[in-house]
Amino acid sequence: MLLRKSLLYQLMSWAKMTPLVDQVLTAYGRSEQVKIKNLEQTEKLLQSIVSSGPQALQVITDFDATLSRYHANGKKCESSYGVIAHSPLVTKKLKEDAIELFEKYYPIEINVSMSADEKTPHMIEWYQKSHESFLDSYPRLNLSQITEMARDAHVILRENSHKMLKTLHSVNIPALVLSAGMGNLVEEILKINSVNFSNVKVIANFMQFDETGLLKGFSEPVVHVFNKNEAVLHDDHAAYFENLKSRHNVILMGDSLGDTNMATGVQNAETVLKIGFLNTHLEDHLPAYMDSFDVVLVDDQSMDFINSILDLVINDGT
Ligand SMILES: [Mg+2]
Repeated sequence: MLLRKSLLYQLMSWAKMTPLVDQVLTAYGRSEQVKIKNLEQTEKLLQSIVSSGPQALQVITDFDATLSRYHANGKKCESSYGVIAHSPLVTKKLKEDAIELFEKYYPIEINVSMSADEKTPHMIEWYQKSHESFLDSYPRLNLSQITEMARDAHVILRENSHKMLKTLHSVNIPALVLSAGMGNLVEEILKINSVNFSNVKVIANFMQFDETGLLKGFSEPVVHVFNKNEAVLHDDHAAYFENLKSRHNVILMGDSLGDTNMATGVQNAETVLKIGFLNTHLEDHLPAYMDSFDVVLVDDQSMDFINSILDLVINDGT
């Protein structure tokens, strides 16, 4: 059955029945890293996105290991929480707590045989314990240390992220960075990389500081990988989507299965093209990723595929 299906797609491709997918793959140039379960459906989504043009499009992207690289120069990059946990500016106790929590909860986050509902209470517990550990530590973090940490962090944006965000800015396509990570760090890293354009909004977990600059708490509700959609509907974030009502096409990018729900808060969403970065456990996780994302990019540390789509949207869709 599977063989027959892949043969069908091969024939469709030869018969040029998927011209946009073919164009993107040709421009991208590394088709062996692209896995598409339903070629016909992906072609339809691309047709809708390209034909409606930039004015109907919005982009929603995860940050850690999506906008940022998973690895660079043979070394795993840090997550926004990892930057803080590994920084020389935090106490030894806080570091030990962070490692202990990561070892306990990360395997749950990436466990493909557990449902999101089953994972959720564990994720909330992870954040709560982590935040308690920050608030219990002495001396507490201060605001200026966040800037220092971002500067020294081993967080590198995916290759050609700058090109992508610059393109989005040039044609006024809103880009939402929706992260279960640490928003203060994400914003600093965007600033350092000169991609904190006016069309980029970050929704994430934020540290809150008192008037002397000392850490006093964390934003609520916690944004974790499995509630990203609910969290954005909360309070003032609803206004963000209200303003984007006419943008019914979405390009969504993530590296975690939970990221596929990030567009749930979008009003009038007609087309959501889900692009997944498969960074780790490549063979084991590929089937689940192909079930959840329209396009899976296997160990690609660049934004080249998305840039190829944007070229079509901008050149053919206006
Ligand atoms: Mg991520």
